[in-house]
Amino acid sequence: MTDTDLNPERVRSICIVGGGSAGWMTAATMARLLGPTYAKITLVESEEIGIVGVGEATIPQMRTFNRMLGIEEDEFIRQTRGSFKLGIQFVDWSRLGHTYFHPFGSYGVNMGGLSFHAYFLRLNQLGEAPDIDAFSLQAGAASHAKFMRSVDAGTKSPLSDIAYAYHFDAGLYARYLRGYAEARGVERREGRIIDVRLDERGHVGAVVLESGERIEADLYVDCSGFRALLIGQALGNDYVDWKHWLPCDRAVAVPCAGAERMEPYTRSTARAAGWQWRIPLQHRIGNGHVYSSAHVSDDEATAVLLANLDGEPLADPRYVPFRTGHRTRVWDRNVVALGLSSGFMEPLESTSLWMIQSGLSRFMAMFPDRGFDQATIDRYNRIILTEYEEIRDFLILHYHATERTDSAFWDYCRTMPIPDRLAEKMRVYRAHGRVFRENEELFNDTSWFAVMWGQLMRPRGYDPVADAMGLDLTRDRLAEIAAVMRNSVDYMPDHRAYIRQHCAAA
Ligand SMILES: Cc1cc2nc3c(=O)[nH]c(=O)nc-3n(C[C@H](O)[C@H](O)[C@H](O)COP(=O)(O)OP(=O)(O)OC[C@H]3O[C@@H](n4cnc5c(N)ncnc54)[C@H](O)[C@@H]3O)c2cc1C
Repeated sequence: MTDTDLNPERVRSICIVGGGSAGWMTAATMARLLGPTYAKITLVESEEIGIVGVGEATIPQMRTFNRMLGIEEDEFIRQTRGSFKLGIQFVDWSRLGHTYFHPFGSYGVNMGGLSFHAYFLRLNQLGEAPDIDAFSLQAGAASHAKFMRSVDAGTKSPLSDIAYAYHFDAGLYARYLRGYAEARGVERREGRIIDVRLDERGHVGAVVLESGERIEADLYVDCSGFRALLIGQALGNDYVDWKHWLPCDRAVAVPCAGAERMEPYTRSTARAAGWQWRIPLQHRIGNGHVYSSAHVSDDEATAVLLANLDGEPLADPRYVPFRTGHRTRVWDRNVVALGLSSGFMEPLESTSLWMIQSGLSRFMAMFPDRGFDQATIDRYNRIILTEYEEIRDFLILHYHATERTDSAFWDYCRTMPIPDRLAEKMRVYRAHGRVFRENEELFNDTSWFAVMWGQLMRPRGYDPVADAMGLDLTRDRLAEIAAVMRNSVDYMPDHRAYIRQHCAAA
């Protein structure tokens, strides 16, 4: 193919503003999918400004992203000093002293066209089958700090299809992807952008660096983090603030020394005015306290964090203010925003890196030419903003469906008005334990059930269709599934040992 065969309107130059996870994920994806000659790709970042550097927990979809890039997993884990994640343990969220697990993968097996949890509920309401975790490989393995990847153990074995994600060091992740993207032709420019110039159409025409260098491109990707240099500051897209539903607005983060036992899960412990994360990596544990500044001061939040570490702090506490919500438009004219510049939802379910991945895959499916078709842009915005709302509702559920009455923060969350769609979901669940997934919603019925059940929401009944299976058969099937899960967990190796064997960092 020669240059003249190509659409004369095609995008020939792309400027990515920002070199955090969003910037380098974008650079890697575009370099991979567009190839070396389609367009010149330049990424600008400022070491002086730095990156937010706290996105360390992921969901299983990240594996699809790595596969798309052709990344070898063991090498990836080694380079990012990562570990494996089977889900999230929630401590003290529903009431003080209560713990539950939100696993990846599904519970048991779906039977007779119904979700497994319909049968679980039936037995549970008869006073049998008290523990949903007995039917999750991930929950069982997590509680014993075990991990392995899928093996070929036959279609009936849960070991043949183990859903998992990663924990990794966010700084090393950006560095890793930088190496990947630069090796495929992406050019990096170091320097602070001090001006953004618009052209006669109101599109971004150039960004100007402190050095005086101008970078002109057909398409700009705003990955400038919370600053939102292009989508917000230059193009004036407002921010929709969801603080009334998700009141946390600050985080304080500090890494600490780890222990020999390496849990294959993120822990989220509810505190009086927020919650604390704990992410085990190979070389340290990442910790942070996400809190509402209206309910607790920085000093108090830091004291709570430091009092609840597993080992010696390895750095000074670092504060990250944030606003939960999103830009009114995340693609405007010739600028698409990915990452924190497009919006932010707190890391309770590790969804931010996913939102970058999702934005990228949808954007590549709608990739523009220089005509920047408005109908395509509108559709992209609608899809992404719907995705934001769906995830938002899932996060609100964790705060709202609580019995906690021990602080003003929890009183607020428990009694606040919630979005209509979430209220409807909760009403439907309370009747028969049913969960309906909206359209292409990220979280499936296992996730919604895990959190609703975990937050101690108990439905009044169960799906009446579950009675189509005889009671004895239901008992036998569930007992068999629980036994298979137990045996499978027994077979799995220790998480730390597995990493040592396959992907230990140098
Ligand atoms: C407390 C907290 C915890 C989080 N935990 C998770 C998690 O567990 N899992 C998850 O998926 N996500 C998590 N996230 C979100 C995740 O960190 C981000 O989505 C991800 O790091 C992407 O950030 P970014 O690249 O958009 O922004 P940043 O990392 O802030 O990068 C912005 C880039 O823009 C550059 N830049 C800005 N202004 C200029 C300028 N004027 N000139 C030149 N360059 C400029 C900066 O130098 C930097 O390179 C968390 C976020 C927070 C706040």
